Amino acid sequence: MHKISASVPADLKNGNRGTVLAAFHNSGMLTAAEVSERTGISRQTVKKCIEYHLQIGALCSCGKGDSTTVGGKRPERFTLNPRVRLMSILLHHHEVTLNMTDLHYNCVAHWSSGPVRLLCMDMMWEQIRRGAREIMERYPDSRVLGICFPVPLGYTTEKRLSAATPFPAWPRSDFGRSLTEPLQEIFPDARDIIITSDGKAAGSALLHWDFSRYGQGEVATFYCSTGIGGALFRDGQPTTGTKSLVGALGHIIVEPDDPEPCPCGGHGCLERMVSSGRMRERLAAQEEEYRKSCLKEIPVAEMTFEKLFEGSAKGDVLCRRESRYYAQIFSIAIRGLIVSVAPEYVVFQGNFGKADEVFRRELLNKVFEFKYMDRQEKIEFVYDDRDLSMEETVGATYQMINNFLCFPEKYVWKQENVGRALTLPE
Ligand SMILES: [Zn+2]
Repeated sequence: MHKISASVPADLKNGNRGTVLAAFHNSGMLTAAEVSERTGISRQTVKKCIEYHLQIGALCSCGKGDSTTVGGKRPERFTLNPRVRLMSILLHHHEVTLNMTDLHYNCVAHWSSGPVRLLCMDMMWEQIRRGAREIMERYPDSRVLGICFPVPLGYTTEKRLSAATPFPAWPRSDFGRSLTEPLQEIFPDARDIIITSDGKAAGSALLHWDFSRYGQGEVATFYCSTGIGGALFRDGQPTTGTKSLVGALGHIIVEPDDPEPCPCGGHGCLERMVSSGRMRERLAAQEEEYRKSCLKEIPVAEMTFEKLFEGSAKGDVLCRRESRYYAQIFSIAIRGLIVSVAPEYVVFQGNFGKADEVFRRELLNKVFEFKYMDRQEKIEFVYDDRDLSMEETVGATYQMINNFLCFPEKYVWKQENVGRALTLPE
C-alpha cells in the first residue's frame, strides 16, 4: 500500500486539540511554530495542545530540529506516536487477512490464512489468533491500539452474532456470541475495537480518497463480491441501525417470483440474482451461444464477472446481452434506493466496479426510464475498480484514524509509556 496524505473530515476542524493532531497526521514531524503556521492557532495554544497530546501518548518528542535562526535555540520536534498500530481484520468466505497499518496509512505487516474452510466461529478466532501471533513475533515493538473488524455477518447492537450467511455450517450455539471479547483477549493493548460491515469499511475508503466529493449528502455504495453488501453514507457517516441491516443492499428484492430461496427467508434478493453461481447457470443454459462466444475456451465453472465484462467490452454478443441483463437487475434495486434516500453518488465496488460500458449505459437508461426523474437530477454512478480487499483495509484504517483524531483519549498509551521521548533516526 502506498503512502497517501490524509483527508481530514470537516468535523475534526472543531477544537484546537483535534486540529493540532490533524496537522501532524498530514505532515509528519513538526515543531510547535510550524504547527502554529499551518493551523493559524497561536503558538501558546499549540504548545498547550502538544503538552496534552504528549501526556496521553498520542504525540512523541523526536528531539531538537534544525536551528531556525543563526545562534538560535534548536526547537523541539514532535510526531504522532510511531509505535501506535492499527489492525484491520478481513473475513472473507475462504480466507482471513490481517493488515497492520500505522497512523499514516502505511501497511506495516500483512498476513493471510490462505484458503480455509471456517466451519464454526472458533475456527475463525483460531485463524485470527494465528495471524496476530505471527505478526507480533515479527514486530514485537508494535502496540495494536485500534482494531477494525469488517464482517460479512449480522450482529446486534451489543456486537453479538445474529446472522452468518457466508458460513451456513456455523452451529446455532455460535449465535449470540460476542464479536469483540475474543479480540480484546487476542490484542490485549487494544483500546478501540470497531465492528462494522464489509460494505461500510470498503465504502469508507471513498471518504479517504476524496472526502470533498463523498463527505457530504447521501452516498450509496454496493460491495460486490460473493455476496452483495453496501452502505449508505450521510454527510460522511455510515448510517447504522439495529442488527446492522441498513446497507444490506444485497437483500433488496428485485424478482419476488424467483424460485431460489435466499438465506434471509426471501426470494429474488439482489445478491441471489447477481451471484457468480447464477451467472454461470445462465451461461450454461445458453450452451450453443456460449460455444460460439469468445468465452468458449473458459469452462463455465470458472467464469467470472470480470471475464464477462471483458468479453462485452470486446463486442461479444452473448457477453453484451448478459452485461445488459445485470444492469437491468441493478436498476430495479437502485430505483428502490432513489425513492427512499436521495443518493448523489451510487458507487459500485468489487466485481461490478469493473463493469463495462454496455452495463454503464444500460444502467443509466433503465434508471432514467423512471419518468419522475429527469437528467438534471444530481445522481452520478461511479465505478471503483480498485482491489476490494485494499478498499476494505483503507476504509477500516480510515475509521480507526478518524477515531484517533477525534478521540485521542481512547488511544491512551499504557501509563508507563506516557510522555516517553523517542529517539528517531534523523
Ligand atoms: Zn435475501
